[in-house]
Amino acid sequence: MRSCHLVCRSTGETFSAREPRWCSPQGELLDLVVVPHLEPSLLPNRPHTLWRYRECLPIDRDEHIITLAEGCTPILAITIDGVPVMVKQEQLFPTGSYKDRGAAVLMSKVRELGISHVVQDSSGNAGCAIAAYAAAAAVGCEIFVPELTSPAKLLQIEAYGARLHKIPGERQAAAEAALAASRTSYYASHVWNPFFLHGTKTFAYEVWEQLAGRIPDAIVVPVGNGTLLLGAFIGFTELLEMNLIERMPRLFGVQAAGCAPLYHSWSTGRTTAAAVVAATPTPAEGIAIARPMRGAQILAAVKASGGEMVAVDDDCIRRAWREMAQKGFYIEPTAAAAIAGVQEILKTWDDSKTVLTAFTGHGLKCNKPV
Ligand SMILES: *Cc1c(COP(=O)(O)O)cnc(C)c1O
Repeated sequence: MRSCHLVCRSTGETFSAREPRWCSPQGELLDLVVVPHLEPSLLPNRPHTLWRYRECLPIDRDEHIITLAEGCTPILAITIDGVPVMVKQEQLFPTGSYKDRGAAVLMSKVRELGISHVVQDSSGNAGCAIAAYAAAAAVGCEIFVPELTSPAKLLQIEAYGARLHKIPGERQAAAEAALAASRTSYYASHVWNPFFLHGTKTFAYEVWEQLAGRIPDAIVVPVGNGTLLLGAFIGFTELLEMNLIERMPRLFGVQAAGCAPLYHSWSTGRTTAAAVVAATPTPAEGIAIARPMRGAQILAAVKASGGEMVAVDDDCIRRAWREMAQKGFYIEPTAAAAIAGVQEILKTWDDSKTVLTAFTGHGLKCNKPV
């Protein structure tokens, strides 16, 4: 890793990435800026994990890397409504979701910083991923979750040895509880902590390498806090900087209609997340985020890529989930939202253009009929 630093999103002030800092002194969001460097000819001899892009990942020393051999998920071609679509199998990660990309890099950074205890809040999968990698790193971990999180995810978080705090109320209440706990501990937040996004960016690197540089015309992902969408945007931006690709794919973000602050902003031309007064329960629990902290950043990334925000209703999500199961793919309902989003986009799609999406989470964490 050559050089990287933290930048405040609101003031542009810069900070060293060698300090345990996850927000600015004024409590603003930070980005991590990495000068990427990759020698493609070295890749064929490297192990099939996301660490094959080592020079682009913000960890100084190899001995700090925490890995469960994550990454390099297969891309399968399937047909959706008669159209060929590529699907990256992100449900095959060690903890059952793509969140392991972010957790592997963030917890490696935690080890590098010499931190012995972290806190995190999650609606489920991010908590599972941080708890698993905290266990691998032998770092203490507390996870704050909404009381109504799927029991399978709660069981998984506790199995890794994390301390679980069930917070009554909406997702936001768990975020506030974790933020309060972060005054005395390091906040390993997938939303606030920019090291997480430099793990999810490996999604883009893998798409580039696995498709031998033939970047799809559109990439469709589910969006709550936007950690996969923003990771993809950062990754493709770095690949462009290194002249390894010639254009950015169009990024489409899919939200559940019952809780779609970014879709509402997008359709009314706003640049920040619209307020969602009462979010209705949706089978896509993983993306029911009423106040996405990085909302403005997500909208800007979608716009810069030439993509769009899309909303899909619960019936479409359930139908997409069932259709995928009937092809042999058992995915989380949140992941089915992206498939429903693909179906929406295909209604007006030019068939000569290629589409890639992801199964973001595994179905085995479902506890009730979808
Ligand atoms: C976290 C998650 C998402 C979306 O993530 P955001 O970062 O909130 O946009 C989608 N699908 C699954 C299965 C997830 O766990």
